[in-house]
Amino acid sequence: MASAVEPEFRGPRRRLIETLQDKGIKDLSVLRAIDQVPRHLFVPPSVRHRAYEDSALPIGNGQTISQPFAHARAIELLMLTGRERVLEIGTGSAYQTALLAHLSAQVFSIERFPALLDRARLMLAQVQARNVSVLLGDGTLGWREYGPYDAIVVSAGAPAVPPALEEQLAEGGRLLIPIGDREEQVLTLLTRRGQVLDRRDIGPARFVPLIGAGGWPS
Ligand code: SAH
Repeated sequence: MASAVEPEFRGPRRRLIETLQDKGIKDLSVLRAIDQVPRHLFVPPSVRHRAYEDSALPIGNGQTISQPFAHARAIELLMLTGRERVLEIGTGSAYQTALLAHLSAQVFSIERFPALLDRARLMLAQVQARNVSVLLGDGTLGWREYGPYDAIVVSAGAPAVPPALEEQLAEGGRLLIPIGDREEQVLTLLTRRGQVLDRRDIGPARFVPLIGAGGWPS
C-alpha cells in the first residue's frame, strides 16, 4: 500500500507515534501501520491541521473518527499476525479499516451511513487498500457470507453483544466491543473457546451508539 508521507505531516506524525508509545502502545506492527496510513487524508479538510493530535475528530453525520490511542489499543488487543479475516462494524472514516488492512489478510467492514461509506470507498482506493470489502447495512447482523472471522471489532457502543456477531466469531477468535449505555461503555474483549466466550473487561470507553437490530433503536 502507498504511504503518502507529505513533508508537512512528517513531524506531527512522528510525535503522535511517540505519544502512543508513551501511553503504552508496544506492538511495533501497530505503530508501523500508524506510521504508514496518512490519517490527514481520512479527516475532513476543516480539521486536517489536527489530524496527528491524539484526539477524536468530527467526520460528518454526527459521527467521529476515534482518538488514535483508542485505535492503537483496540488493534493491539486483537493481536493480529497478518493472516486473519477481520470484520469491522462502523467503517466511519475508514482510517481504522486502513490500519486493519495493513495488519491482516482480509478486512470486511460495514457502515450504515451511505455518505460515510461512499467517502470510505474513495479513501480506501486512494491508499490502495486492496484487501478490504465494504458493505452498506446494519453491522449488528454481521456479514455471514464471509464468516467466521478471526477478529471482530465494533467501533460503536452496544447495549449487549449482538448474537449474530457472537455466531460469526471463529474458534480462538477475538471480538472487541464497547458495552454499556448510550454515553459510556466498558471496552470488552471476548475470545471464543468452543461454545464459551471468555470475557475480559479492558476499561471505560466512550463511543457513538451502535444503531441496529442488535444494538440501539435509531
Ligand atoms: N472506526 C471509525 C469509527 C467511526 S464512529 C473511525 O474512527 O472513523 C462509529 C461508526 O459506526 C459511525 O460511522 C456509525 O455510523 C457506525 N455505525 C453505528 N451503528 C452501526 C451499525 N449497526 N452498522 C454499521 N455501522 C454502524
